[in-house]
Amino acid sequence: MTSEPLEAAIEDAARLVAGASHLVAFVGAGLSAESGVPTFRGPEGLWTKMGEPDMRGYDRFLADPKKWWEERSQRAGDMKEFVDALDEAVPNDGHYALRELEEAGFLKHIITQNIDNLHQVAGSQAITEIHGNRTKLRCIECSRRWDIYHFDIEGSPPSCPDCGGIIKGDTVMFGEPIPHDALEECAAQSQMCDCMLLIGTSAVVYPAASFPEQVKSAGGTLIEVNPNETPLSAHSDVILRGAAGEVLPKVTQQAKGIVQE
Ligand SMILES: [Zn+2]
Repeated sequence: MTSEPLEAAIEDAARLVAGASHLVAFVGAGLSAESGVPTFRGPEGLWTKMGEPDMRGYDRFLADPKKWWEERSQRAGDMKEFVDALDEAVPNDGHYALRELEEAGFLKHIITQNIDNLHQVAGSQAITEIHGNRTKLRCIECSRRWDIYHFDIEGSPPSCPDCGGIIKGDTVMFGEPIPHDALEECAAQSQMCDCMLLIGTSAVVYPAASFPEQVKSAGGTLIEVNPNETPLSAHSDVILRGAAGEVLPKVTQQAKGIVQE
């Protein structure tokens, strides 16, 4: 795919969006970064400051879930700063464009790698979070979820009233499998999808990398929205080299215009 001027690429993307029968957005950290959500790597990244996280996080949780619940209420230092920054983040125009695309009937589903809950705050409805959601808790056995702000199950650690499983934060830990229900939804969406918006993600890690692959191999189209080149660029039909908050609202407006013509 050769690059074309941004305005022409936006027109092409709008045509694909308007003509798609099952448009899915696949979203990564780039969209959250535009909202000021701190990154993990890079100069200001959490891990750069605190050191690389323990890759056996989930094993450690399983060995002593009570400890995780105790530590959760005692965050300090860089970790607290990170959590505070997440608390302050608000959706950007890219998030709102996705909501508008859904309301207009173009966008059928969002698959997101972000845990910050910003799609919900922006008003999107059909969302699958493959790495969980920081404002939720989840039973590790049956995947039932609770809102973190309305959770009144006693016990340390608390256990699921349905199945007795241990309850943890919904955010997927290192070494923890992606929840089954999320994976199944992603597979179903990728199968139905004939056009996928790849927003702020490089999707090189499996299973995430398999979603755009599946769409492409079934004859669907890929639209990349990313200020930087990624491994997905070579497979994308249209490339929008810009911030999602700038280009997605334009794609949305033009797609609506095409339908009204
Ligand atoms: Zn359960």
